[in-house]
Amino acid sequence: MHLNEKIQAIIEAPVFQPGHVWLAGAGPGHPRYLTLEVADAIGKADVIVHDALVSEDVLSLAKTADLIFVGKRGGKPSVAQDDITTKLIELAREGKRVLRLKGGDPFVFGRGGEEAEALARENISFRILPGMTSALAALAAANIPATMRGISRAITLATGHAAGTPGDLDWKALAKTGEPIVVYMGVSTIGTIAKLLMEGGLPSETPVAVLMAATMPGERSMIATLATVEAEIERQNFAAPALIVIGRIVSMQTALSGQHR
Ligand code: SAH
Repeated sequence: MHLNEKIQAIIEAPVFQPGHVWLAGAGPGHPRYLTLEVADAIGKADVIVHDALVSEDVLSLAKTADLIFVGKRGGKPSVAQDDITTKLIELAREGKRVLRLKGGDPFVFGRGGEEAEALARENISFRILPGMTSALAALAAANIPATMRGISRAITLATGHAAGTPGDLDWKALAKTGEPIVVYMGVSTIGTIAKLLMEGGLPSETPVAVLMAATMPGERSMIATLATVEAEIERQNFAAPALIVIGRIVSMQTALSGQHR
């Protein structure tokens, strides 16, 4: 990479030390959304421990690092969280520069908090390197403003993972705010989520965007409504990774479409 010296000096402090773990976000998929310091760390790491959402294109920037995959693949269950943290600790104790690389941002539905906690407990030095969370990149790619004066004053990032199970988020309360919601990991639970949001007062015609594989090969998107989204996901074969955007901001897409991307 050709960076001017000033940028190089900025990203080289602090130095990636042997025996340290850097917990980093790789952004939504396309390498253009890597931060400068994460791109630099990929080139310097001895070992990269990565999830399924870190794209091949991003990993191809690694020069000499060993790559260790700890995500879900081919329907097999993912490596247990405890085993991942044990691995990170082991590698750090061997004196490696360990880059723990996750899709999006490590602290947004990325279990970065849990891993950092385990490293702190074991007295292993670590840093958190933020990444662009997928929701922001996906909204931008879809021409949907995350916030818009006159339309929204807040935006909720929620996980749909546990929708409908005891102790889950109060979706009806979220509906009452009237503010837009971006649902991560919600493809298989969107039926339940939509029902709860409508019970909470959101109109059934509320626009919903489904943004799949944003910035990745195979990127697709569609617009539906709260009433139709579950059936449309099924009919059009949308699958993870996808984000579901619910609220009036989605209708801005029409106004902004046709602009150069
Ligand atoms: N830490 C990540 C989120 C990990 S949870 C982040 O900040 O983005 C995994 C979920 O993120 C997926 O199920 C999907 O809902 C979402 N996701 C991640 N990358 C995505 C992408 N490129 N396009 C659409 N959704 C994505």
